[in-house]
Amino acid sequence: MDVTRQPTRRDVARGVAAIAAASAVACPSIAQSAARVVVIGGGFGGASCARALRRLDAALRITLIEPKRTFTACPFSNEVIAGLRGMAAQQFTYDKIVAEGVTVIAQAAMTVDPQVRAVGLADGNILAYDRLVLAPGIDLRFDALPGYDEAASARMPHAWQAGEQTMLLREQLEAMDDGGVVVLAVPAAPLRCPPAPYERASLIAHFLKARKPRSKVLVLDAKDGFPQQRLFENAWKELYPGMIERIALSQGGRVISVDPATNTIVTDFGNYAAQVANVIPPQKAGRIAGIAGAADNTGWCPINPATFESKLVPNIHVIGDACIAGQIPKSASAAHAQARACAAAVVNLISGKSTDMPRLNGACYNTVAPGYAFSLSGIYQPKDGQFAEVEGSTSAVDAPREVRRQEAENAQTWFRTITVDAFG
Ligand code: FAD
Repeated sequence: MDVTRQPTRRDVARGVAAIAAASAVACPSIAQSAARVVVIGGGFGGASCARALRRLDAALRITLIEPKRTFTACPFSNEVIAGLRGMAAQQFTYDKIVAEGVTVIAQAAMTVDPQVRAVGLADGNILAYDRLVLAPGIDLRFDALPGYDEAASARMPHAWQAGEQTMLLREQLEAMDDGGVVVLAVPAAPLRCPPAPYERASLIAHFLKARKPRSKVLVLDAKDGFPQQRLFENAWKELYPGMIERIALSQGGRVISVDPATNTIVTDFGNYAAQVANVIPPQKAGRIAGIAGAADNTGWCPINPATFESKLVPNIHVIGDACIAGQIPKSASAAHAQARACAAAVVNLISGKSTDMPRLNGACYNTVAPGYAFSLSGIYQPKDGQFAEVEGSTSAVDAPREVRRQEAENAQTWFRTITVDAFG
């Protein structure tokens, strides 16, 4: 496999022929002259975008490139870690998307050449595009935290991309002795799903309280504040008194290195020996975004918020966690809203129509125990070249338990709705 080879014009012609044949099988009614949209990444952003494109324009030739045949969702994966949910409930296939006339190619995209508008696949084939949507999610920065590389993640799981890592953390919690310390290392912003580390700390405490009640959760945090902090801290006092300790940035919580051989986590103020070490490293846009030239020196992809078109590379749009989108958090909810707005913009650009200003809804639920959740939601619109929050709300700090129970049900409904919309 030649992963560095750049596509030539001849490759492009060959790739076009290959994909034209594939498209003809998937959707025979599509005209040969129809515009070609390639979507890289079949997660919440990419899968939602491919389906939205199909709904908006039956003539488009849409190809979704995603190496995994089954997608494993991160939302609710903290419940899998805590033993409250099976992994099967997190997994989705692309069958419905294929049935709707999207060509799904089970390969990784390895190269993007914006000059000839072509994507190179792992098997050497080349796909030509008129518009390319990048939705590759995140990559973990295995070079950012001394001691923490890919090999270390087999001992100190991040579980920040759901799947094997989720199960590894689950197994380590099952295996640990009562009385041990679970250390959760949280990086500085920006990160995928900013409240999720605290949801995880809560649900791990729930597991420990029932199964290993002498154990503790220690959160070492490279930030001082975090979303819905009062709600989390009140819930910790109420549900898990004395079980969760958090050391914030200004108290010396920033992790500066790790030693996987001894499961030690090092901060400026001391070393912590963990029985289970859940190390969430700094992150960046999925690697293909950098290869395409769409990521800047922050590692993320700046976009024009009206169309999601890259500020760095023409004809490439970036959605989901990979883009820098102002005040919108990196969440499945945001990726899904961005996907639909981006699909509308792409269809308008292809047909030469003007694009409406997007107005995106985002909602996030945090579950701290079964039947106990709270939420925050926002509406985001373009302002000064970024997305700004124009409306926002958060659960009341003093709401009764009945409201928390209702929010836990709403969270389940949210997950069902978003996954049906993304994957069918
Ligand atoms: P992803 O969903 O990660 O999809 C990216 C896809 O791109 C992957 O399938 C990957 O295989 C594919 N890909 C990458 N590179 C390539 C390539 N070169 N070629 C082809 N395909 C490629 N969000 C919420 O809204 N609510 C929640 O409650 C919530 N809980 C969370 C809990 C946890 C523990 C975590 C870690 C995250 C949580 N999130 C939540 C965040 C949410 O999972 C992400 O924000 C969301 O998945 C982002 O969508 P995306 O499409 O950008 O990336």
